[in-house]
Amino acid sequence: KLSKRLATVAAFVPQDAVVADIGSDHAYLPCFLVNQGIVKKAVAGEVVKGPYESACHEVQREQLSEQITVRLANGLEAIQPEDGVTAVTIAGMGGPLIASILDHYPQGLEGVTRLILQPNIHAIAIREWAVAHDFMIVDEAIIKEDGKIYEILVLEKGKKPLSELELLLGEKLMAERNDVFVEKWTHEIAQWHTVLKNMEKAEQTPAIMNKKQELLTKIETVEGVLA
Ligand code: SAM
Repeated sequence: KLSKRLATVAAFVPQDAVVADIGSDHAYLPCFLVNQGIVKKAVAGEVVKGPYESACHEVQREQLSEQITVRLANGLEAIQPEDGVTAVTIAGMGGPLIASILDHYPQGLEGVTRLILQPNIHAIAIREWAVAHDFMIVDEAIIKEDGKIYEILVLEKGKKPLSELELLLGEKLMAERNDVFVEKWTHEIAQWHTVLKNMEKAEQTPAIMNKKQELLTKIETVEGVLA
């Protein structure tokens, strides 16, 4: 059975899309998408040999070699023009790594109309990437599984500026403010308070005092959203 995290990613894949799952590891996501009849054709990309082999193994075991092409390649280089890929999924990595994968080979995104990205940390890096590359966040989800909290971001072409707070929290997630969202940011605020306390112990140089003020403002702003 697919994890709740990957099932949430799958839920944002459009019916009959041609999907490239980058950093696919065991290829559970493309296998699920084909088995559920959501997509007919997919690419699973992996840059590391071990996970690449486990993707190949899983696709063979599921007898999906006709539908799923597994490629050993760096990021979006796994996508070839003749694949006709329309949606890209990248899950289970940090936000900055996902953003760097998107930056590394922009040709891979030609013809792609939707990106479904699941950063384990620093989703802000993806929102910043989106704004800078004329993608907008059309949907977002936040879920908890096995004690860990995950955000899923759905991007489509378009321009939409985001405020600093929206970049950090996510416009939709912030408006919804569900229990998982409140839990995540309550925890972050507690951590920022610890950082702040440690800064108090350091020598109060102008640089430290500036940083303290910045952090305090951030804490107050996010607390304001949760209140
Ligand atoms: N996507 C799966 C999931 O969410 O369960 C696997 C996540 S796993 C933690 C991250 C995978 O991304 C690893 O198998 C790693 O080899 C792969 N990866 C990291 N950087 C990559 C890159 N530049 N191109 C392709 N795969 C990459």
